[in-house]
This record gives sequence, C-alpha cells and structure tokens, in this order.
Amino acid sequence: MTLKTGERLDLTEFPVPRYEIAELGRYFLGSIQFSSGCPYVCEFCDIPNLYGRNPRLKAPEQIAAELDKLLDCGSTGWIYFVDDNFIGNRKAARDLLPHIIAWQKRNGYPFVFSCEATLNVAKRPEILELMREANFHVMFCGIETPEPDALKAMGKEHNLTVPILEAVDTLNSYGIEALAGIILGLDTDTPESGDHLAEFVVRSNIPILTINLLQALPVTPLWDRLARAGRIVDDEDRESNVDFLMPYDLVIAMYRDVMLRCYDPAQVYARFEHQVKATYPNRLKFKLNSHRLNWRDARRAAIITSRVVWHVGVRSDYKRVFWKFALRRLVRGDIECILRVAIGAHHMIIFTREATSGRANAAFHSQRDRSEPLTVAAE
Ligand code: SF4
Repeated sequence: MTLKTGERLDLTEFPVPRYEIAELGRYFLGSIQFSSGCPYVCEFCDIPNLYGRNPRLKAPEQIAAELDKLLDCGSTGWIYFVDDNFIGNRKAARDLLPHIIAWQKRNGYPFVFSCEATLNVAKRPEILELMREANFHVMFCGIETPEPDALKAMGKEHNLTVPILEAVDTLNSYGIEALAGIILGLDTDTPESGDHLAEFVVRSNIPILTINLLQALPVTPLWDRLARAGRIVDDEDRESNVDFLMPYDLVIAMYRDVMLRCYDPAQVYARFEHQVKATYPNRLKFKLNSHRLNWRDARRAAIITSRVVWHVGVRSDYKRVFWKFALRRLVRGDIECILRVAIGAHHMIIFTREATSGRANAAFHSQRDRSEPLTVAAE
C-alpha cells in the first residue's frame, strides 16, 4: 500500500521533532530543518520535483524552539541544517540568521552549525557574515565538476556566477570550510576529466569531497532524457544505472584513480593543514563555559581521543602523516582540531580503500549488491 499526499504540508505546521526519543548523545551530529525545496533545476537532482521549487519555510520561532529542544536533549553540539539549499530563499535565510545569532548569544554559543547551500552564496557577503556570527563552520556545496561546459550542460550555471576557486576562498575567509559533492560519468566527461578533477582538488584545498558516479534518479530530467535514449541500465552488477557515453570500465578506472589520489593520506592532511591556516582563524573565538566544557563532553572527548590514538596514531599505515599534523596542534593544545580532522580524514581514507577495491559502492545511490566484490577490466 502506498500513502500519497496531494499537497505538501506547510512547514509552519510541523511540530517540534521528538528529539527526546533519539538519544542524541549517541550521534555525531544533530539535525534540524528550516526549509524544504530548491529553486534551481539541476538535471540529475530530484529535489525540485520531490519538494518543490518554491522553498517552504519554518518560522524563526520554530527554529529557536527546536534548538532549545536539541540542547535539552543532550545534542553533542554539532548541528546540521539538512535543508536542500539553505539559501534557496535568500531573504528568508538572511532574516533567520539574526534569530540564530540571538539564540546562540542567549545560550552561550553551545552549537556549531553546518548546512548545504549553493556556491553562489559567495556573492552574498552579508549572509556569510551572519553565518560566521551564528557559528557556521562547514558548508556542503554541490560543485559537481570543475568543468564549466559540464555545469552548463547539467543546468548548474549558478555555480559559475563566481569562479569556483574564488568562491571557495570566499567561504574560507568567513571561517566556513567548504565540502564538495562531485559527479563523474557525465556525458561531458572526457578521459582527461579525472586529471582536471584531481588538479581542482589540490588547488581548492577542499578537504572532504564526496565523489560519486552519476546515477539517474526517478523524477529527474536526467532520468527522462536517458530513458528516451534507452540509456537507463537495470543491472545489479554495475555501479551506476546510467549507460555512460565513455566505456564503463574507463569511467570506473577514472573514479578509482581520482579517489586514490584525492584520499592519499598525505594529500588529505595537506588540505586540512591549509584549512587550519586559511579558514579556522576566521571563526569566532569563545571563552569556555558550562555548555562548551562539561563532564559529559570531557568524557566523550577522552573516549574519542583514545580511539583516534589507537586506530590512527598506532595502527594506521599513515600514522607518520597524522602525528606530523597532530604534534603541531598539540603544542597549542588544540585537541578539538586534531580529533575533528583525524575522524574526517580516517573515514574518507578507509572509505576510499573500500570503494576502490569493490568493498563499498562507488555511488551513494547505487543499488549494487555488495555480496560479490567489484571486478573491473581496466586495472
Ligand atoms: S542546486 Fe542543489 S538542491 Fe537545487 S536543484 Fe541543484 S543539486 Fe538540487
């Protein structure tokens, strides 16, 4: 049985989530939602069809109430705005941010925020300044590809309103670390696309990128176009349901090569080293208070530290790279930075090894059955 709703419910009618049943202390990140929907129509994306092009919004008072509840329910302090595009309605985002700043000030800045937004936020210094004041540290941007023709072909010209590297630097200058979504297997890709991407990763110094193979999702313009051309493939042995224009094995080999280059441990730590110098000093500085240092957090930090030291500092095959980074921070007592970087880097290094050896899927939407390892002709 399928339950379908005719109208999308107004977000102002949404109740405060029942965070109390989620045991928030066991989650690395808490989540909150201000808006739903996105005004753009990128060819591969299902958001506009699923949630609409005119973002629905909650009232700032709802967000304040949800933050209160996250705090009461023991959130770890890292809160992700799961909006499809936090600046999908720029005016609404601009109007909301002063409320978040006021809430943070009232409560002693207990939260660090992250969100997803389009890269053209770099054109809005007034929004970025408010985000800095509200304590946003991380923004996931769908950069997709550094190749301008590819961005035009997928309907993502809005990524070109500011040169991409310049936009990333602008975010960094407001203390916001950019994370990037990247797609390989596009119709516009050439055998050089992998090299272009690897160069972009080095030049942008974006530490974490989710690199995916193109998937056609239902209710997207991409699905319609490929279905018309007979290019949707239903084959559980493939990493993608798209019949790429380049040979499948070549695309897979390119994906593996780029992933291994991007997530070579020395490369990842070099990019984080850049962030430490170019981004983190631009964030707000705080005095310690009971919300920022308490026994529960100290205990959690001790457990995480022991795990990081054991898994990364002792057992990993890249422990020299880790200690070189960590010792510089230890001198200044910046344990939080060491832990955050070590966890993020380790996750991606291990994921890369699994995905490129066939033990994990090469795309988050892939339906590939993992009971058999991935075999590729182009070794
Ligand atoms: S900007 Fe992002 S959320 Fe909006 S349509 Fe494009 S990919 Fe989807």
